[in-house]
This record gives sequence, structure tokens and C-alpha cells, in this order.
Amino acid sequence: MTDQTNRSLSAAEARERMLAAISPITGHEFLPVRSTLGRILAADIIAPHDVPAHDNSAMDGYAVRFDSLAGEGETRLTVVGTAFAGNAFSGLVGKGQALRIMTGAVLPAGADTVVVQEVTRLEDGVVIVPAGQRQGQNTRRAGEDLTRGAVALAAGKHIGPAELGLIASLGVVELAVKRRLRVAFFSTGDELASLGTPLAPGQIYDSNRYTLHGLLAKLGAEVIDMGVVPDRPETLEATLLEASQVADAIITTGGVSVGEADFIKEVLAKLGEVKFWKLNIKPGRPMAFGKVGNAWLFGLPGNPVAVMVSYTQFALDALLRLSGLDPVPVRPLLTVASANAIKKQPGRREYLRGAIAAVDGRFQVKTTGNQGSGVLRSMSEANCFVVLPEDCAGVAAGDSVQVQLFDGLI
Ligand code: AMP
Ligand code: MG
Repeated sequence: MTDQTNRSLSAAEARERMLAAISPITGHEFLPVRSTLGRILAADIIAPHDVPAHDNSAMDGYAVRFDSLAGEGETRLTVVGTAFAGNAFSGLVGKGQALRIMTGAVLPAGADTVVVQEVTRLEDGVVIVPAGQRQGQNTRRAGEDLTRGAVALAAGKHIGPAELGLIASLGVVELAVKRRLRVAFFSTGDELASLGTPLAPGQIYDSNRYTLHGLLAKLGAEVIDMGVVPDRPETLEATLLEASQVADAIITTGGVSVGEADFIKEVLAKLGEVKFWKLNIKPGRPMAFGKVGNAWLFGLPGNPVAVMVSYTQFALDALLRLSGLDPVPVRPLLTVASANAIKKQPGRREYLRGAIAAVDGRFQVKTTGNQGSGVLRSMSEANCFVVLPEDCAGVAAGDSVQVQLFDGLI
């Protein structure tokens, strides 16, 4: 074996290689605004008009001409009417005059400044304004949010609540979003029983397909569950070929390490351009990445927690790239104190399951019990990964560590 196949890839290197290899799918569909939540924009959205469309008031108060106001002392101005949001005042505000104005109402001709109601007094149709106002204060200028013709949202943007509102503010009714990703997945292993069947001796229930179903549904993918596939090369081959014809990506679990029944490697090597990586991480050391037909293939390890680590740290960003998200953001790591000591040998990057909680008003992270790579309970109790870098040689209680929050991740 060459050094190339033997070498362990770092997490960062593996992620980079995947992102560099994958280009986004091209299909798109037109949907009404609300239905685009969670989807990815397929084309730029151009502002058809200024937002806001008119100069308007940011506060309830009085619209005035700044040059009506005395530099020192109070100014008395005649109130000439009222402007409401959606009901503009058609007249002009002249020198020595003020218009009562509500938040969002169009600024009348002549006025350039709004004085908030709270600092004024009203006496017989005359408003008394104190000194110290600034020209232009409490106004929102036409186009200050967006100017007509500007790119309001660029293709590749993920559509969340703020984007729904922004799109609506432009009057856009329907828009082009990337089609959903189709992701097929199956579990491999002779020991796996599907739910609804009794466990024979030595069998375990297949949990990975349920975890993956959850992860992929959260991603908004169309999932194609292909069940449990026994450790038989012919069946694996047939299932992979079938999956590659219906899906943009295939995720398998199990069979990528060096055990006797780890046939997935052999079958993949035969079927497509697939690389087998030894990643310099724990858990989730073995992983396969490549293509079968036109479908991208992610061969994840079998251990349930390793599945979640390799999915969140590698497959997820690759799937996001494939779905058209641009850019694929680098997830932030936050620094918090570790409530407990953590044993570690330098060498690999480790992902531990942790729970962040406030203790005496300060956030701390505590690892959630048994960190075995098959133990899903400690995953369920966690709200973050504690990410220990390669060179870390252990953590003492109170040391700072980096964490990656599950929020937005899983
Ligand atoms: P493997 O990578 O196939 O050697 O599997 C590693 C470990 O993960 C073994 O203990 C398997 O029994 C377990 N495992 C593999 N696939 C699943 C699955 N779908 N659900 C639960 N455990 C699994
Ligand atoms: Mg197996």
C-alpha cells in the first residue's frame, strides 16, 4: 500500500476534499413564498422597487422642517394635520409648521426630520419642540434597506424566516428554489433486525436507519429508505446499483472497517470511484467517499454514535454543497469551561458528547457519561460535541474546551 492510502486524513482535509469534489444539483422548482421555508434559492432575487418604497417616519411624533427649529430654546410650530401609516398627508409642511405623524407613515413634502412625541407639548394646535434635535432624525429613507435593482438575496441562500419576510417585502409571490435532494440509505450487517420482527439470538435492532431518517428529514431531503442489507457482496452490489439510479446521494452504515464481513469496501471498489479514508478522528475513523454511477456515496461506520459524528462532520456539509447552499458555512466552535476532567492521548481529534448548562450564571460543559461509540443514550443527553483537537493531551476540570452546538446541526 502506498503512503497515500495509509495516511490518516485530518477532519479539515477530508471536509475540504469533499467540498471540492462536489458540484450542486441543477434542478429547480417554482414555489409560493411560504413553501420555500428551509429550501435553497436557485436564482438571485432582485429588488423590483426600493425598500422602503418611500421616506417614512420611524417613530410616532411630529414631522418638521429642520430649518424651522431654533438652535437654542423651544420652537412653537403650528400642527397642520396628521399622517397615518397607509394614509399619507398630501399637503406640504412649511416653515413654522409640523405634521402629527405615526410610525411608518410617509414623510410629507417639505419635512425632513421627526421629533418624537414624548419630548413635545401640545397647546391649542401648537406643538412645542425643545432644542437639541438632529436633522433627519427618526426617519427611514427610501431604499435604505434595499435599492431597486439590487440583489436582495443571492442564489444559494438558505431560506429561513428572515428571508421569507424579506422576499414578501419585495412583493415576490413565487420563486425558484433548488429541488430537494434525494438521499437513499441502508444499513449493512447480518446481525441487524428490522423493527417489528423479534430478535434472534445475537441480533440487534437496526437503529442507524432511524437516526439517519431523522438527520436527513431535518435537512429537508427526500429520503429513500432501502432497509437492511445482509453482509453478502451480491446483495450489496445490487442495492447500491439500485440506489444509484434513484438518488443524488447514498449513505450506507457499517462494513467499512477491516473485519471479515466488511464487504462494502470490496463492492464499492468494484462499482465506482470510491476512496476509503482513515480519518484522524474518534469516533468515526473509517469512512468511504466517492461515486457510484451519478450518485455520491458516503460509507459511514456502523457504530451508532460514529454514524452521527461522521454524518455531522463530513456528510452533512457535502450534502449541503450538493443541495446548492452557497457558501457552505464553517460551523462555529465556542469556548467554555469543562466541568470535568477528560482523558485523551494526543494524535486524534475527538468528538465527545457534552451538555452545556449554566452553573452559578456561567456556562460550563459536562460530558454525558459513557462515551462508547455505540452508546446513543449519551448522545441523547447531549446538546453539543466537545471537540478536542489532535494535539490535546487531556483536559483538567475548569480548563477551557471548544464545543460545537447541536442547534442547527442535528
Ligand atoms: P461495523 O462497522 O459493520 O463493523 O459495525 C460496527 C458496530 O456497529 C457493530 O457492533 C455493529 O453491530 C453496530 N452496528 C452496525 N450497524 C448498525 C445499525 N444499523 N444499528 C445499530 N448498530 C449497528
Ligand atoms: Mg457490520
